[in-house]
Amino acid sequence: MTIQFIDLKAQYQALKSSIDTRIHKVLDHGQYIMGPEVAELEGKLAEYTGARHCITVASGTEALLISLMALDIKPGDEIITTPFTFVATAEVIALLGATPVFVDIEVDTCNIDAGKIEAAITSKTRAIMPVSLYGQPADMDEINAIAAKYGLTVIEDAAQSFGAEYKGRKSCNLSTVGCTSFFPSKPLGCYGDGGAIFTDDEKLAKIMREIRVHGQERRYVHTRIGVGGRMDTLQCAVVLAKLERFEWEVEQRLKIGARYNELFAGKVSTVTQRPDRTSVFAQYTVFVDNREQVQEKLRAAGVPTAVHYPIPLNRQAAYAALSKVSGNVLSSDAMAGRVMSLPMSADLSQQEQDHIVTLVIETLGK
Ligand SMILES: *Cc1c(COP(=O)(O)O)cnc(C)c1O
Repeated sequence: MTIQFIDLKAQYQALKSSIDTRIHKVLDHGQYIMGPEVAELEGKLAEYTGARHCITVASGTEALLISLMALDIKPGDEIITTPFTFVATAEVIALLGATPVFVDIEVDTCNIDAGKIEAAITSKTRAIMPVSLYGQPADMDEINAIAAKYGLTVIEDAAQSFGAEYKGRKSCNLSTVGCTSFFPSKPLGCYGDGGAIFTDDEKLAKIMREIRVHGQERRYVHTRIGVGGRMDTLQCAVVLAKLERFEWEVEQRLKIGARYNELFAGKVSTVTQRPDRTSVFAQYTVFVDNREQVQEKLRAAGVPTAVHYPIPLNRQAAYAALSKVSGNVLSSDAMAGRVMSLPMSADLSQQEQDHIVTLVIETLGK
């Protein structure tokens, strides 16, 4: 049995007729940039998350960048975030000349430790960017409360968590700004690059829409510096088709994740799920020692694995000098050596999952 790490082909087969129809509709009307599918998708995504505004953009990275630009983040400003994330989270901060300030994670969820954020705040702090890692939101109420106390903005990097819930509210709509990604392997993916920004703030939404198209207020009238950051119509069409069974996919992800948890209970340690929120399991991640040997054995048995992420961002050559660490990031260091993600997708069968679980338990010698 060979198992896909993420099975995108099975998803395409299931949605083939809708996806093909949607794509051909765009080819027929020919409005490849800002065609009608863009506003249609924005409306549907806003409705899904409950956020007042949705602005589709060229990628998840662009969503984060445009959000920071809309907040007028400047050189010298500090943005608090986690070092245990994909590089894009810190990259956009650095691109604007601001300083990523890394706060350590909780060892059980691998999300930013809200209890350590306040100690990182200085007179230069402008925003907090928690990441909903592996698909599970961080302690957003606590983070929002700290932000309110110090007049900061919270931007949720929800690139991995579209569809997840926190205390009954949807990820992307848990703070002033939420950013997600439609990279093909994310819980809601397109067939190229894409992303979206969510906010209830009318003024910010208007600024973000302008920044998305070169800072123009209307055609060839540029009131601010922007980027070429639109999501193209074809990619919006793909996401629209995928939304048709997204609710089912989220349910499947919750079920498959819960089943992994049950089957590993007492045998393999896994990322902890907090009872007041869900994870959409962009990754299903376990903690192992001797990771390389374990991965090699699983690979030989036909089970692909991945590491998210092997090196905390404060230890990356490009970021070491321009970032700051608040206190220490010992938990990030420790977990970077232990995390291992297993195959996960809405189409993973019970048989495949049983096979993976048996092999992992066997390999770990338990
Ligand atoms: C994927 C990802 C991004 C970037 O999204 P792209 O669409 O690939 O630009 C940002 N942050 C996190 C946490 C991600 O997982």
